[in-house]
Amino acid sequence: MKILLQFPEGLKEKALAYAKEEEAKGNEVFISASPTFGACDLALEEAKMIKVDKLVHFGHAEFHKVDFNVEYREFEVDADLGILDDSVEVLKDYKKIGLVTTIQHIHQLQYVKEFYEKNGKEVIVGRPYGFAKKPGQILGCDIGSAARIDKEVDAFVYFGGGMFHPLGALLNTKKPFLVVEPFTRKVEFIDRYREIYRKRRNGKIAVALSAKNFGIVVSTKNGQHNMNLAKLLKKKIEANGLNAAILTANTINFESLDNMREFDAFVNTACPRIAIDDIDRTRKPMLSANEVNEVLDMLSEQIVSK
Ligand code: SF4
Repeated sequence: MKILLQFPEGLKEKALAYAKEEEAKGNEVFISASPTFGACDLALEEAKMIKVDKLVHFGHAEFHKVDFNVEYREFEVDADLGILDDSVEVLKDYKKIGLVTTIQHIHQLQYVKEFYEKNGKEVIVGRPYGFAKKPGQILGCDIGSAARIDKEVDAFVYFGGGMFHPLGALLNTKKPFLVVEPFTRKVEFIDRYREIYRKRRNGKIAVALSAKNFGIVVSTKNGQHNMNLAKLLKKKIEANGLNAAILTANTINFESLDNMREFDAFVNTACPRIAIDDIDRTRKPMLSANEVNEVLDMLSEQIVSK
């Protein structure tokens, strides 16, 4: 069989070893060297261009159905669970804990749950909204496992690496949020970021209020493509007497956006995290669909009150 292997950045260092394994099974093997951000970003064009029978995507669970033969190989990471001991004291004021993690540690979630239960906590594991598939799992764009149980818990615990995943859950919940990071061995509440991100968001909305020309960014990645939303937003912006154009890209290049100097603001319809995490990467404000609607509402209110 002819196969294309695709790895997230953290697993690319193992690409050759996996390729050799597949060759030993009699497959003809190719490795995608393109960046990938998740199962929303399958190398489908490459797979079709080089005419492989199957794309093997490592490190992520299925995101949504696609019209191609894709095998998902999740990658379990056995993180050091000893770090949990350090979190018991800081959680002493909270009885009901909502537990979330990433796909790499889902297999460790039951142990983590039982650990907190043995330490006198009631532990709730929520269900994701749709893109994520497993209870307790969060993605940067699916924090349902946390948001659904926000009202029921006293605090959240995220067990896993990095800040990308817990940040999305933090911004969509209200309860104290503890990160238990087994790789850097950090145990810390990250609630202060709610206020920091609220101010950043308000800042870009204030700048966008004087924008005349909007560039609406549409990604061609399989799980991030939303042309219908972009067309809807274009109509709405133009109905308010402003200019809008739809810009297409596979991976968004912020330098290229900066080179498009006619635009005063950009609107993101791709990965929802771009308008949150990457707002400092363009000189012009990068709004989400909700934020551009807010801007248009505020402009209408200004006209009415004049
Ligand atoms: S957060 Fe963005 S990059 Fe990650 S899975 Fe969702 S759409 Fe893809």
